[in-house]
Amino acid sequence: MQRRGLLIILSSPSGAGKSTLAKRLRHWDSSLRFSVSATTRPMRPGETDGVDYHFWDEAQFKQSVADGGMLEHAHVFGNFYGSPKAPVADAIGDGCDVLFDIDWQGAQQIKNSTLQEHVLSIFILPPSIAELKRRLETRGQDSAETIAKRMQKSWDEISHWDGYDHVLINDDLDVTEQRLRTIIEAARLRRSQQPTLMDHVRKLHDEFGGV
Ligand code: ADP
Ligand code: 5GP
Repeated sequence: MQRRGLLIILSSPSGAGKSTLAKRLRHWDSSLRFSVSATTRPMRPGETDGVDYHFWDEAQFKQSVADGGMLEHAHVFGNFYGSPKAPVADAIGDGCDVLFDIDWQGAQQIKNSTLQEHVLSIFILPPSIAELKRRLETRGQDSAETIAKRMQKSWDEISHWDGYDHVLINDDLDVTEQRLRTIIEAARLRRSQQPTLMDHVRKLHDEFGGV
């Protein structure tokens, strides 16, 4: 394996733009694997089961947690959400990065796991609360009641901004995407992500001995 996969976590208050950014990143680099979360929330118009989420009922979700099948899980906006473990292990084994669109509770659980040294966590802030509300409304996928619930919860999520490696203000989408690419490319060069470095240094050492 030339490279070890990163666990790239994107969090933000709902509506700040993380799904949009995650889609752009996957378009930029098709080798990025997206961690398809399981959720008990209802499917939105335009969503596909198994692509955007695995839409499970509560019994299915709880069984998977009990079987140890979840890397992390949390209760968000009255529904369960979680990241199935197996696809992440497969991706890492193949040397691929995995992209997570999860909340701060899930981010914290992954950061406290045995995979912590391979985590790259990024928090996305909106330019303003008024713009956050506008984005939730123009997305046009949630009822007024759901939007109000998400707005109420947004400060909860924002208050965890300082637990992340990087924080980006998503004003202009192109600029934010470019910044994300830069952060990911730099993280891929971390020592922890380059398993073949030791061999290379050994070779340099052997060669050095012969000089
Ligand atoms: P999240 O996944 O964080 O809940 P979305 O990616 O669904 O948020 O974005 C919410 C809405 O805001 C979408 O309609 C999206 O097109 C729009 N949006 C995202 N980023 C920007 C931006 N930088 N400028 C303007 N609109 C944006
Ligand atoms: P939405 O219902 O808008 O798709 O997502 C609501 C919130 O749940 C978002 O903050 C999103 O990041 C979070 N979320 C989605 N999937 C997961 C997951 O697998 N685990 C955790 N902890 N949060 C998730």
